[in-house]
Amino acid sequence: MSECTFSPSLCHINLSALTRNFFRMGDPAELLPVIKSDAYGHGLMPCARALDKAGAINFAVGTVSEGKALRLAGFHQHIVPLLGAGSLDDWLVSFSLGLTTPIVDMESLKMAAHTCPDHETMGVAIALNSGMGRLGFSEADMPDLIEGLRRYPMLKPELVFSHFACADMPEETEYTAAQHDRFSGMAKALRAFFPSLVTSLNNSAGMQTYPHTANELLRPGITLYGGNPFHGTPWASKASGFEWVMSVSAPILQIRRLQAGESTSYGRLFTAPHPMTIAVLGIGYASGFARALSNMCDVLIKGRRCPQIGRVCMGMIMVDISAIAGVEVGDLAWILGGDPLPGQRSVNADEMADALGTISYEVLCRFGMSNQRIYH
Ligand SMILES: *Cc1c(COP(=O)(O)O)cnc(C)c1O
Repeated sequence: MSECTFSPSLCHINLSALTRNFFRMGDPAELLPVIKSDAYGHGLMPCARALDKAGAINFAVGTVSEGKALRLAGFHQHIVPLLGAGSLDDWLVSFSLGLTTPIVDMESLKMAAHTCPDHETMGVAIALNSGMGRLGFSEADMPDLIEGLRRYPMLKPELVFSHFACADMPEETEYTAAQHDRFSGMAKALRAFFPSLVTSLNNSAGMQTYPHTANELLRPGITLYGGNPFHGTPWASKASGFEWVMSVSAPILQIRRLQAGESTSYGRLFTAPHPMTIAVLGIGYASGFARALSNMCDVLIKGRRCPQIGRVCMGMIMVDISAIAGVEVGDLAWILGGDPLPGQRSVNADEMADALGTISYEVLCRFGMSNQRIYH
């Protein structure tokens, strides 16, 4: 973030909750926790520090740049930048800092080999496409891949991984099983030549649902941060027990009365049907509260739900506090999280995602990227 702040809203990051979520997942030696995209908006360094203390020995990030930042900050973990190396420069950084960067096709295999200085070796990961149709080698590429790896013995494959397209969808179990089989077949072929290769297939959804093989690294992302990859499906209870790590607060900037027939905000989207008391909050679409949520979402004030009313502005939203006594300017409204009174429920990223037609991942990334974060 820059030296000034543009919104008085805040992301509160509960690192103890992150640590508890991590401990729930089992042996750290079998985990490759995913802290890409600034740890899903929760902050790369603080999350890496908390997971390091909790015993993490592997980290998956997105870019080589994130991996470099971790290494330069002194993290000694195996670091896998899931997006691969986009350039020769990325390969040079990967080599010099000992990142386990994936090769994703023959081009990147050759680039990696040519980057590695004579008489040196470079650990790499191998990305396989088992049905996601994204990065990685497909089944038909296996002969070339194996030949390439044998021709360039300076490359030392350490990890082979692939990614599920629909492990969170009960109606797609067959497709997921097919991905599982395809990955197993390709990994087995590779292990015939590189017996020490570690495999990794399961994301948060996969690791709650499908049995994993020995010697496999699990790659939890969203569940680390408390999200439920099965939200809205019959499998929702499979990922229960994880705690949300991020809460979002915004202060009340003004309290005003609306008379019947008076409106609030742009476009007169909301007109008071009867006299009401509203609060103006310091958060808006520039700080992660999507404009598409106008008139669609509640916030928590004094432990109770209040409906948001009218168009969401760039830096402000309005909420109806008619039903709540004793609210004052400066009080905090909780956009996500907060402490609900008995019988009340706080708003979480899954509920907000439903209102937006998206997933909790995107909600968390948006709030995290556009707010100051404070750590508890
Ligand atoms: C993001 C990502 C994950 C983590 O996925 P979740 O659904 O958040 O658990 C794992 N593997 C890869 C390759 C990813 O891109």
